[in-house]
Amino acid sequence: MKSICVKSLTKVYDNRVTALKNVTLSIEEGSFIAVMGHSGSGKSTLLQMAGLLDLPSEGSVVINGEEVSSLKKNELANVRMKTIGFVFQAFHLNPQLKAYENVMLPMLINPEYKKKSEIEQHARKLIDKVGLSERAEHYPNELSGGEQQRVAIARALANDPDFILADEPTGNLDSDNEANIFELLKELAKSGKGVMVVSHNEAILDYVDKVYYMKDGTLAEERI
Ligand code: ADP
Ligand code: MG
Repeated sequence: MKSICVKSLTKVYDNRVTALKNVTLSIEEGSFIAVMGHSGSGKSTLLQMAGLLDLPSEGSVVINGEEVSSLKKNELANVRMKTIGFVFQAFHLNPQLKAYENVMLPMLINPEYKKKSEIEQHARKLIDKVGLSERAEHYPNELSGGEQQRVAIARALANDPDFILADEPTGNLDSDNEANIFELLKELAKSGKGVMVVSHNEAILDYVDKVYYMKDGTLAEERI
């Protein structure tokens, strides 16, 4: 079973702000989990630790059976590139690139892909998969927020990661687009990805298999 397991994670910023306290949770393939909590409760910090974007002060992160704390920086980046796709509230698309070109980016830095034509073909397939075939040639500023987030999800899928980690993915969207994005993430989990969304949006509860609640850096409650 593929999984990201975070165990007894503590994160202290600047020797002063304890953003996470002894947090344990796992993200498993084929399942969709939400971590909810108010602003400042530690959700983004947890996502960054689980996604190897930052290291915890204490505790461990085990990805597909491998303890990652002993890895060097470039090894961490490699594991991250191959196993995790990220989605953020603000989409973070490159405004100079068309939708499908944004999706090509992660593959251009993956040495497993050699030919640019192959990369483009795969990017276009992913654009189709997120329902944007008609929009592939558009630039981000010609797309709605919901469409931009779909492009970002397609980009997160580019290197066929085992896991998708999303930080407030619907924070900038209206409720129709929000439902579409949650539905898409749910489908990805059904197709075998492990999906974690951190959010303070209760609407997500209709989609997920499991929800955790964060409060002041601790995982306060789990409801199934
Ligand atoms: P959430 O995503 O739930 O809003 P965060 O994980 O962003 O919460 O923040 C948790 C706590 O850690 C907050 O008190 C925040 O101010 C603090 N924090 C987050 N990132 C940093 C950082 N890079 N440096 C210092 N403090 C931080
Ligand atoms: Mg946050």
